[in-house]
Amino acid sequence: MRRNADELNKMRRAGKVVAEMHEKTREAIRPGVTTMDLNKIAADVIERRGARSNFLNYHGFPAVICTSPNDMIVHGIPGDYVLVEGDIISVDCGAIIEGYHGDAAYTAGVGTITAAAARLIEVTERSLWAGIDQMTKGNRLNEIGRAVQQVAEAAGYGVVREYVGHAIGTAMHESPQVTNYWPGKPGPTLKEGMVFAVEPMINIGSPSTYQLDDGWSVMTADGSLSAHFEHTIAITDNGPEVFTLA
Ligand code: MG
Ligand code: MG
Repeated sequence: MRRNADELNKMRRAGKVVAEMHEKTREAIRPGVTTMDLNKIAADVIERRGARSNFLNYHGFPAVICTSPNDMIVHGIPGDYVLVEGDIISVDCGAIIEGYHGDAAYTAGVGTITAAAARLIEVTERSLWAGIDQMTKGNRLNEIGRAVQQVAEAAGYGVVREYVGHAIGTAMHESPQVTNYWPGKPGPTLKEGMVFAVEPMINIGSPSTYQLDDGWSVMTADGSLSAHFEHTIAITDNGPEVFTLA
């Protein structure tokens, strides 16, 4: 679906709220902080900006962000987990302004982290930007995933298959999906006004996943660390515009 100028403006505003949720939660990440503390900080941003949460009550999800430490890939529920030195933590945030959605995630280290963990974070973020570089009108959608996959696999990492990015607009998750790998065909042609959430989930080891009994938390099958970066990006006449940057 293509969005008009008024819709894109609302999505830009939603994106700025998400960017502020990133900024404020990132500042708070240190040993001793709980994932529920981060959720409270993010909820305060949503309230202060007059936005609504798209995560809260989504299929019953109980919080406004997802917090996924270490070998948890995505969809972690904030709670009493206490961050410790050396952890990595993925924080996924979303917000709605006047019915239009923003969605973005980052992974950060807690205090000093291992070189292996730092490299995973660096490569995963770089894979997202390689995907974003493909988001020019006339290009094909699945070139995004091809670029993400090339960066991640060149580093020896596993690209998660079971969870993917998505178009976004008046709902958080719209069609089509945006895979983080080449799915075997080029997919739709990108046109100005289309908006997508691109979100590589990259594991140091195997790409395989399993879900915890809480019905949400997605883990790496082999216990290896996982990182997650996401932005909401529009296709414009002048190339990709990232809505969820500060
Ligand atoms: Mg997200
Ligand atoms: Mg998303």
